[in-house]
Amino acid sequence: MKKIVVTGAGGFIAGHLVKALKDQGHRVRAVDIKPLKEWYQVFPDVENLVLDLRIRENCHQAVNGFNEVFNLAADMGGMGFIEMHKAECMISVLINTHLLIAARDCGIERFYYSSSACAYNTQLQKDPENPGLKESDAYPAMAEDGYGWEKLFSERMCRHFMEDYGIITRVARYHNVYGPHGTYDGGREKAPAAISRKVIEAELSGKDEIVIWGDGEQTRSFMYIDDCIKGTLDIMYSSIEEPINLGSSEMVTINELVSIVENIAGIKLKRLYDPDAPKGVRGRNSDNTLIKKYLNWEPHFPLRNGMQLTYDWIREQMTKK
Ligand code: NAD
Repeated sequence: MKKIVVTGAGGFIAGHLVKALKDQGHRVRAVDIKPLKEWYQVFPDVENLVLDLRIRENCHQAVNGFNEVFNLAADMGGMGFIEMHKAECMISVLINTHLLIAARDCGIERFYYSSSACAYNTQLQKDPENPGLKESDAYPAMAEDGYGWEKLFSERMCRHFMEDYGIITRVARYHNVYGPHGTYDGGREKAPAAISRKVIEAELSGKDEIVIWGDGEQTRSFMYIDDCIKGTLDIMYSSIEEPINLGSSEMVTINELVSIVENIAGIKLKRLYDPDAPKGVRGRNSDNTLIKKYLNWEPHFPLRNGMQLTYDWIREQMTKK
């Protein structure tokens, strides 16, 4: 049994991670800035702390007396959020910086940082047939403005804390993660949740239209949460010292994603395209050569199955409301 801190634990991915670690028998300290009643998942057999981790003293309190840290706390959201809140996204640099300093001062042995595919050079993501971003494509650097640059900088902080202070740091670059117990409305939601919500709204109201951002031909891959948690744990306890992709390589267009959700709902909607909405890069996929080499595994949960589970959870929340 280890003593493990998980930050961002009131959010989507870290909430699932807390559950996995506690189920494995570890002592977990879960930390988030949000009031406890707003956390997606709260476990009574876990120590839950509400702290603003931009503040250095709070980071010390969060990690003191523990062995390992998974840092998933960040002020972020989908394209609609990160394109409009670049400074806010960059301020998350304080979270990772102060956590690393606290980790060094408190003798933390292992530290995990959740980076993003947004750290990749945007110039390489203009083709919707994108064959996949490989780890070396982050440099020369031209990351997603705001959010992506913070991720790239924080990745390097992890690297130098390992080199200079001997903390074992591990970094994964997540490609769009989706699943139950995540944000589906309010402006921070990402495409799988947003499209599910829009289709459910249409279904429940009898409306027969859906608004799609851009022309819907931009491509992405989406990783189901169970794959994300397995990959996160495997990378944390691996010997992989450089940032590595953690994402599905099942690439689809946004139009194809809409068709999957329509199929799940059993309806067909008229598509209204909004060319002025935030669209992000034109094409993005995960090249999984490296993760297959190191872990003999890659995320493989089929998109159709994961979307069914996500849709069912969002529908349940919306009908409850
Ligand atoms: P999320 O927004 O659901 O969770 C992040 C949590 O961090 C939130 O609960 C938020 O309250 C918390 N937080 C923000 N500022 C904080 C602060 N100052 N102190 C303490 N907690 C704070 O997001 P998520 O989807 O679960 O993402 C988790 C991590 O994975 C983030 O670092 C994110 O950048 C990264 N990531 C996610 C995706 C994805 O598709 N979900 C893709 C790439 C990278």
